[in-house]
Amino acid sequence: MMIKKAFKYIRIMLNPVAFEKDRAKLQASVEKKDRQIEKKDRQIEKKDRKIEVLQGEVEKKDRQIEALLSVAKPTRSISPYILSERFQADGKPNIELNALQVEIKNQIDIKVKQGVYSFEKVLCCICGGHDFETLSEKDRYGLYAPAVICVDCGLVQTNPRMSQEAYQQFYEIEYSKLYRGVDNPHDYHFDKLYNRGRSIYSYIAQSLGTQLNQSRILEVGCSSGGILQYLKEKGNQVCGCDLNPETVGFGRDRYGLELQVGTVYDVILSWKPDVVIYSHTLEHILNPLEELEEVRSIMAEDAILYIELPGIKYIFKQYDFDLLSYLQNAHAYYFTLTTLKNLLRKAGFDFIHGDEFIRSIFRAAVEPQQNARIENDYGAVMEFLGILEYTWQETMGRREERSVFQV
Ligand SMILES: [Zn+2]
Repeated sequence: MMIKKAFKYIRIMLNPVAFEKDRAKLQASVEKKDRQIEKKDRQIEKKDRKIEVLQGEVEKKDRQIEALLSVAKPTRSISPYILSERFQADGKPNIELNALQVEIKNQIDIKVKQGVYSFEKVLCCICGGHDFETLSEKDRYGLYAPAVICVDCGLVQTNPRMSQEAYQQFYEIEYSKLYRGVDNPHDYHFDKLYNRGRSIYSYIAQSLGTQLNQSRILEVGCSSGGILQYLKEKGNQVCGCDLNPETVGFGRDRYGLELQVGTVYDVILSWKPDVVIYSHTLEHILNPLEELEEVRSIMAEDAILYIELPGIKYIFKQYDFDLLSYLQNAHAYYFTLTTLKNLLRKAGFDFIHGDEFIRSIFRAAVEPQQNARIENDYGAVMEFLGILEYTWQETMGRREERSVFQV
């Protein structure tokens, strides 16, 4: 080793050109290393920046999760608007209204302001509770109609709500025009109901394995009677009642249906119904527990009760994934299958079949069940609504923001 180094030294001493060459080589090698180090440094910096970006994304995701949790598990002390501030009573409609609907909406607003339509606070009709959280102060038309959820059973309801007298006038004068946006909707509506009659017929056939053909059927809130017309054509004896004399008159005159003006308390029947239908009716009734008890008392033994209504856990495409588009002042209640079952159990009915759409079948229980167990659906409803609102904010809400910028 020593000898090798000594030879090298001697060679350099003897040959300065070779020395210079070696020195240059060494220098080049050092510079190359330096460049490599610089390159590595740049790579490290680049990686650092990537890490920063990723950290930012993680933080953003964390914030999104936090937001999601905060809407899913709201704290009452933070804000009375549990879902978001767009649910405030600012009078703005959430859906497009035509000229007739705007006129009717303004007319109702004036009546509310002047106290012609008075409001009342009520206890929860299922559990008797009085602890409510506000979900929204207005409905889709922008009308004052607070939607609240009962903390003790999860029933979503309008509270305070218009008094019985106010609702009566509202149904007589404004409801149909506001809801359908046309002055004379009978023909169109009858066809829609007729088709619904077909779907009820097949739902019952599929669920119970029996076809309705020699049954005696009562429909409460039958409107012009389209559903009953379909069932009559299937060989059943039918009768309906509805509060609206105009629609009842239409079904009677045009189709010869046995329709009566009034509620289930007023209806006169010479037979006991085997089937009672509430199709998009029960959610309008202010005291559903009392009414269902009455229904139970007039039904034949082993009769079934069919209830269909827009379930709050089924707010998807048809309402643009938006709770606000689903809310309407005419609805006193917004049921889930669980809260509906709670109500029916209390009214003395056993659950047979149902889904969150909601379509459901019940049968009168042997004994009334006033002290029936109540399953609290609060957590599940709030979780569903929290996720729904978060999804809406991230999709539809963003789209609206963008369209504002484009304007
Ligand atoms: Zn309750």
